[in-house]
Amino acid sequence: MSKYEPVMGLEVHVELNTKSKMFCRCSADYFGEKPNTHTCPVCLGLPGALPYINEKAIEGCMKIGLALGCKVAEVSRFERKNYFYPDLAKGYQISQYRWPLCVRGEMEVVGLEGKRRIRINRAHQEEDTGKLSHIGGVTLIDFNRSGVPLVEIVTEPDFTDTAQVRDYAKKLQQLFRYLGVSNADMERGDMRLEANISVRPVGQKELPPYRVELKNINSFRFMVAAIEYEIKRQIEALERGEKLTQETRGWNEEKKETYLQRSKEEAHDYRYFPEPDLPELRISESEIQRIRESAPELPWKKETRFMSEYGLSESNAKILSESKEMAEFFESSVEDGRKLGVGPRQIANYIINQKPDISVKVAEKIKVMDVGVIGDIGELGRIAEEVISENPDLVESYKKGKVTVIQALVGAAMRKTGGKVDAGKVREILEGKLG
Ligand code: ZN
Ligand code: MN
Repeated sequence: MSKYEPVMGLEVHVELNTKSKMFCRCSADYFGEKPNTHTCPVCLGLPGALPYINEKAIEGCMKIGLALGCKVAEVSRFERKNYFYPDLAKGYQISQYRWPLCVRGEMEVVGLEGKRRIRINRAHQEEDTGKLSHIGGVTLIDFNRSGVPLVEIVTEPDFTDTAQVRDYAKKLQQLFRYLGVSNADMERGDMRLEANISVRPVGQKELPPYRVELKNINSFRFMVAAIEYEIKRQIEALERGEKLTQETRGWNEEKKETYLQRSKEEAHDYRYFPEPDLPELRISESEIQRIRESAPELPWKKETRFMSEYGLSESNAKILSESKEMAEFFESSVEDGRKLGVGPRQIANYIINQKPDISVKVAEKIKVMDVGVIGDIGELGRIAEEVISENPDLVESYKKGKVTVIQALVGAAMRKTGGKVDAGKVREILEGKLG
């Protein structure tokens, strides 16, 4: 066992699928569009252009926050996060820092040693930046993404293994899709992960005096690989007696290693200050209540309900609550099954094993399969007669008192019908005819 343990937190950025951008009326549906066609003076950061708030985006952020058990702040404010980079025409990003929209939530995750509660520090609203492409020694900028609503969800440093981190990120993705606020497609960059990692001696209570941030990871697999590499690198450095410092690192997928990007970057470097062009946000209790009530049943609630209400196993309940569409398909099939006498567990097994298209009437299919089993007494009698006449030796030993051969006769009936007879019933009939 290692003398060190990791201390980790996660920041997740998710682009909301609103019609328009965060602070202007440009279309936010920019994916695959011609560069710089979804722009206006506001999202290009031209002098004198004034931003205004997209209410739908604020709603999306609150949906996420409430689902994570956060409190919606009575008052929240936008701030300018100042930094220089060409993907940011204004020279600052409108974000939230001291007064985030949603605060203090939590999420239960499963890791190597079972369940663990991860505290969520905040879910705040901000805007995306433009996108740089480095092509043939030239850097090109596309501002279509600039100003697209972005929600940032930050955890406390509560993760202790990578399985927990992975489970958390997957659950968030599932949540965004359930809530319908984002497609949360990692490859398209709808959802981006940043992990902060440090290690400390086992038993130490205080947080380590440094942390390493891993930026811009666009797949769950890369994230796990990058974190594991980083834990190992840091432990080795500490064991050599080196002192680790605050830094930002990236992931090189070819070399399978992390590399230094920037060192020593602190919040005060951004010189945050309140955005003077936007009003503070005050969300009324009734508005919060309305959004709370509009929320669908959350996937983890569905999972436990499927177990208690339909008697499903945990793994089956998990599969069937994976997506909202899957869960709805299952439950409407259960509803059909009620009228046809087909139980939820039969339906669950059929959906999981046969993977039918959602247009399939599952309960009816199962019913037809059941009817396919020969249960008709007249029909079974005829089959029994045939079996008896075809197996005189067995019949004779049965009559001499070797009653166990009845099994062999039932087996013969099974073979004859391709396994379609009801074994119990055919046995009764055979016994009746022979006794
Ligand atoms: Zn615009
Ligand atoms: Mn951010």
